[in-house]
Amino acid sequence: MKQSQTLVPTLKEIPAGADIASHQLLLRAGFIRQTASGIYSFLPLGKRVLRKIEEIVRDEMDNIGANEMLMPALQPAELWKETGRWNAFGLELMRMNDRHEREFALGATHEEVITSLIKDEVKSYKKLPLTVYQIQSKFRDEQRPRFGLLRGREFLMKDAYSFHESYASLDEMYDKMYEAYSNIFTRLGLNFRAVIADSGAMGGKDTHEFMALSEVGEDTIAFSDTSSYAANIEMAQVLDQADDDQSGEELLPLDKVATPNQKTMEQVADYLKHPLAKGLKSLLYKVDETFLLVVTRGDHQVNDIKLKNFYQATTVELATEADVEEILGAGFGSIGPIDVKNKEVDVIFDFAVRYVVNATCGANQDGYHYVNVNPERDFDPEAKYADVRFVQEGDPSPDGKGQIQFARGIEIGQVFKLGEFYADKLGASFLNDQGRASTMIMGCYGVGVSRTLAAIVEQYHDEKGITWPSQIAPFQVHLLVLNSKKDEQKQLADQLYANLKAQGIEVLYDDRTDRAGVKFADSDLIGIPYRVTVGKRADEGIVECKIRVSGEQSECHKDDVISYVK
Ligand code: ATP
Ligand code: MG
Ligand code: MG
Ligand code: MG
Repeated sequence: MKQSQTLVPTLKEIPAGADIASHQLLLRAGFIRQTASGIYSFLPLGKRVLRKIEEIVRDEMDNIGANEMLMPALQPAELWKETGRWNAFGLELMRMNDRHEREFALGATHEEVITSLIKDEVKSYKKLPLTVYQIQSKFRDEQRPRFGLLRGREFLMKDAYSFHESYASLDEMYDKMYEAYSNIFTRLGLNFRAVIADSGAMGGKDTHEFMALSEVGEDTIAFSDTSSYAANIEMAQVLDQADDDQSGEELLPLDKVATPNQKTMEQVADYLKHPLAKGLKSLLYKVDETFLLVVTRGDHQVNDIKLKNFYQATTVELATEADVEEILGAGFGSIGPIDVKNKEVDVIFDFAVRYVVNATCGANQDGYHYVNVNPERDFDPEAKYADVRFVQEGDPSPDGKGQIQFARGIEIGQVFKLGEFYADKLGASFLNDQGRASTMIMGCYGVGVSRTLAAIVEQYHDEKGITWPSQIAPFQVHLLVLNSKKDEQKQLADQLYANLKAQGIEVLYDDRTDRAGVKFADSDLIGIPYRVTVGKRADEGIVECKIRVSGEQSECHKDDVISYVK
């Protein structure tokens, strides 16, 4: 590719509003441009990197038998209403009407679309398990789009969905996905950790997040320095909510509050007395089909008395499913209503209390990691809970191996055992080998492709620019001609360009007429692994070769260039 003929608009200055390295460098090096807040165009260099990341993702997905497909971004509201997420997803879901005033959403995720499709097409256990995936733009009206590609409103995701006849089969696929994700992020050169995450729903279905370690990450993870113990200390949705500075009143329709439940009040109050319980604003738990346990912190008015920052735990009787969804929408956006049917009330309260504490820990920034709060990770969900406690950096790991360390992480992927929720809501059932109708069991698995690109830049840059790992670099060689008006330089550079291309080596040829200083600075900024510069010694057939990341520099004979960069 000749640089004079492509679009690589580099910038000298740091663009206003770009606060972190990846955002600044991707703009400055001409990889992306902002079209609107949280919405970006990928310019030719950006698109090349994106494609390479996608290819690694595809390779690993295909390896475990997942099938690529493509679903529509435009989705009818009816599907989202069937699962309750039309309300539950809240403001993050982008909505629109067509010319007939029919409601649509722009896909924030595709559980609804794929489950309704599979429901129509797969009727027998013989076609299960089945795993599909796509790489596609997702739309989420994030409250605070920021940090460039890290939190966009339109972004590229690989999302996969698996369908099973049994939990054992789901477990198997989940493990394969976990492995595939580890391979993807390893192949991308990322320093990452897979951490146990909070499923947000009671019942403790398995979920892991993949976190690229980075100071600019929005999550904090706690991990043991010697064992595989690693957990997200935060409960993101509640954290978002606590961050919003919404008052309790906004979330809690007070006209719906029934008599406070004494038992709940006491239990929750006990935990909330803890000095760490300071970030919590509100939490909502569905207790059964008609009740929610609501814990709020905010300013309340009770019989003329104003209470500031007061915790209140109540059960709320709800008239309709829509009420439930409306209220849940405030707190559990991407998960959907919590399914705690068939659970003992005591167990539900236990869970609720744990989550209160868990959420609190996420909402405060003091660096505590709670244990005995996460079902499966810390305790058997069916058993009576052990005392909630917290660990700090340097404390022994909860698994008894090594010490706890904290680090900031960027969530680049997540694997999730969904269970029967979507299949149940959308009626996706199949005939099992006994000929009986049975609900499908699902998993879902996401990789933030565009976010991952930015996470790589966070880990691969220096003060001069990006330092791409070669497997995803936009080109392998940056060929510079210092003075293209000098015939011998131009000729040698043209010849090297042709030779490199003939060898199948990806080369960006800076054939522009700009000054040498500009070319060197741009080259460092763009970060292609090898630089080959044709300058003064062109007539002797000598060029300068340089490795971007180490700065190691040497003179090469023109005939040795190919072997140098190979
Ligand atoms: P976050 O906690 O950062 O909001 P999420 O948990 O809501 O992310 P998922 O629903 O798990 O996101 O989506 C799968 C993946 O998509 C995430 O792991 C992340 O890498 C990516 N992703 C999610 N939201 C965004 C966004 N606004 N911009 C870019 N990538 C995103
Ligand atoms: Mg998350
Ligand atoms: Mg989110
Ligand atoms: Mg997630």
